Amino acid sequence: MEVADIVAALGPDHPRFRARQIYEAVYRQRVTDLHRVSTLPKALRDEFPVGVPEVQRVFDSSDGTRRYLLQLADGKTIETVWMPEGERSTVCISTQAGCPVDCKFCLTALLGLERNLTAGEIVGQVLRVAADRGLEANVDRLNIVMMGQGEPLLNLSNVIKATRLLTDPEGMAISPRRITLSTSGIIPKIRELAREQVRPKLAISLNASTEEQRQTLMPITRKYHLRDLIDVCRAYPLRPWEKLTFEYVLLKGVNDTDADARRVAKLLANLNAKVNLIALNPGPGIPFETPAPERVAAFQAIVRRTLPCFVRKPRGLDVYAACGQLKRMELVELQ
Ligand code: SAH
Ligand code: SF4
Repeated sequence: MEVADIVAALGPDHPRFRARQIYEAVYRQRVTDLHRVSTLPKALRDEFPVGVPEVQRVFDSSDGTRRYLLQLADGKTIETVWMPEGERSTVCISTQAGCPVDCKFCLTALLGLERNLTAGEIVGQVLRVAADRGLEANVDRLNIVMMGQGEPLLNLSNVIKATRLLTDPEGMAISPRRITLSTSGIIPKIRELAREQVRPKLAISLNASTEEQRQTLMPITRKYHLRDLIDVCRAYPLRPWEKLTFEYVLLKGVNDTDADARRVAKLLANLNAKVNLIALNPGPGIPFETPAPERVAAFQAIVRRTLPCFVRKPRGLDVYAACGQLKRMELVELQ
């Protein structure tokens, strides 16, 4: 529900300007408890559900990454990851509880879909992390990546609403350049996203160099073909400062050969794009292995002849916080 609707629903005692006051407290000042907003009448402070997800548990990695298990109002839990890095830190947020897409290398897939998150729950993850880490609004700079649990484009309307909240100059004021959405490649939804005025940067999980290989690793792509994906990318309206990102999970002996690298380079050659390689982050029930660093480097060297190509450093691997590892793992299971 929108803040204004909730205030209206609380009855005629509360004038409408309270909605703006609450919006500013929550999104600009990042207050997670309205009791701290002294300008609001006590009755409203008691009644209003701010709805920022509660911390159920945290898991701290030796590299400084913190994985949060957050509880939503209906008791469902999701995961959010905080990755500090110098001046600018990154928050990885979920867009669904679980994920309906069944990529064979991803632990989140094993959860299945529980439900879509509301826009408030998507943004609430950033507010919760900011509160937990003591970040100051408009001082501490953040990157946001929609790469946690879920397929963002299967919850597009809430993801767009959340993006508007995150970028609102009157609210959290995070630049769209600092927000990235990653998708497994839901083609019609990429077209829809392209029509939005305010949208995150787009990253696409390629993960294979041929149609056949991609369909085996990501069965959803039997519906959304590689050829059409490249076409939609070619037509995508990039902003002047923007490049498409293609993510590629490297699986030992499966999609990590020199021939794969050459095919990836050829597929993407005519796009304004860069490639992020991710060596598999392993997990129980995932039937693949991580390639050796030399293999990753050799793959990168080949792609690099054609377009920019980087290797994504795994963060929070020891506490199941890295890409593809979000499955609410408890520490007892980790030992
Ligand atoms: N659902 C979206 C975003 C979340 S997944 C998507 O699939 O794009 C974020 C990234 O992690 C994707 O690029 C995905 O391919 C990658 N990934 C999934 N499982 C992985 C694993 N086990 N190891 C490394 N990367 C993985
Ligand atoms: Fe879902 Fe992304 Fe994992 Fe695929 S890789 S199952 S789309 S979270």
